[in-house]
Amino acid sequence: MLKGIEDKVKFEFDQTFMFYLPRICEHCLNPSCAASCPSGAIYKREEDGIVLVDQDKCRGWRMCVTGCPYKKVYFNHKTGKAEKCTFCYPRVEVGIPTVCAETCVGRLRYIGLMLYDADKVLEAAAVEDEHALYEAQRSVFLDPHDSAVQREAERAGIPGDWVEAAKNSPVWKLISEYKVALPLHPEYRTMPMVWYIPPLSPVVDVIKDTGYDAEDKDNLFAAIDALRIPVEYLANLFTAGDVGPVNDVLRKLAAMRSYMRDINLGRDPRAEIPEAVGMSEEEMYEMFRLLAIAKYNERYVIPTAHGEDAHALEELATDCPVTGYDDELMDGSGPFGEGSGRGSTTPVAVENFRMLQQRQTQESLVSGGSKQGRVNLLNWDGKGVPAGLFPERPAEGVGQAADGEGSEGSR
Ligand code: SF4
Repeated sequence: MLKGIEDKVKFEFDQTFMFYLPRICEHCLNPSCAASCPSGAIYKREEDGIVLVDQDKCRGWRMCVTGCPYKKVYFNHKTGKAEKCTFCYPRVEVGIPTVCAETCVGRLRYIGLMLYDADKVLEAAAVEDEHALYEAQRSVFLDPHDSAVQREAERAGIPGDWVEAAKNSPVWKLISEYKVALPLHPEYRTMPMVWYIPPLSPVVDVIKDTGYDAEDKDNLFAAIDALRIPVEYLANLFTAGDVGPVNDVLRKLAAMRSYMRDINLGRDPRAEIPEAVGMSEEEMYEMFRLLAIAKYNERYVIPTAHGEDAHALEELATDCPVTGYDDELMDGSGPFGEGSGRGSTTPVAVENFRMLQQRQTQESLVSGGSKQGRVNLLNWDGKGVPAGLFPERPAEGVGQAADGEGSEGSR
């Protein structure tokens, strides 16, 4: 019986992860793509840790394609250069989230700043025991609430608003305070910076299917203990096979589910539920708030790039990793704005900032925010419908006939 249930849960996990585990470039602290590039074309930006490919330096060796264990570098056969996720750096520089985070309908993605000790990275990546890698990477992160860290940050020239952003970082909370986020394949030793919260849902579904109460703490804890396979499966993904941390995360999520059910049904909350997983009631409620109902500005806490860094950032931006497309296709406009990668006199960040500022302070959408009426969706802030995105509506009368035809055609 238990074997049958385990197989079912394994199948659910297989489905979840084989098809739905979203993977982007991890912008690793110890990026093997950069280490494997013979031309030194891949670099990690000192300002924000984003890993980019310098298109001028790339000689198309393709060693980065095999060098990245997450398979996140692609070869552009047209340009003969390597390309990868840029973490939407022109957006991040002006304090707005990446497109993948902003458009995620499940609101599953969080972006925040993490302070870390760069001198400890290699030591942590070289820890011999694979099971110790998760804790080793966590130990590289610095607590932004620690006054010694704040002083050191100031000494290193990190702006005060960045330290403030680090204090409010949802990612810091999930990784280091609640400890529910885990790194993907830490055994690759690249020190990945995109962390995941393992899902509890396949376990919940199985309990529901067997007719038991899937929001009862004891049922959930018992299922997590008894269903060995899902925990091992997740441990192979997130903790190099160490089931301990995965077990802890699943128990915290199960406790949160059970604790919040009482509150939502108007019952007295039971303090023993968070206590069972080493959390206070307040912490558990705050974790629920962050995971379930946090607003936009709590899910994405991104400090803007500083004016004093603008020149350096723009110098990097002229090496925009996505270039080489047909001029008629790009029409003078780079994919990250008119200023990107074309030796423009206007820095990308400044151009984006101006366009966004214009849009966000006007009632209607600014047409002409882009050259020749082109719509740059990377800069779109989600307000209104950008002009030119849909064909213009014909005049009344004519429109009705056209609508009729349109709907007929779509049937
Ligand atoms: S995930 Fe791959 S491409 Fe991205 S930084 Fe790490 S090693 Fe490089």
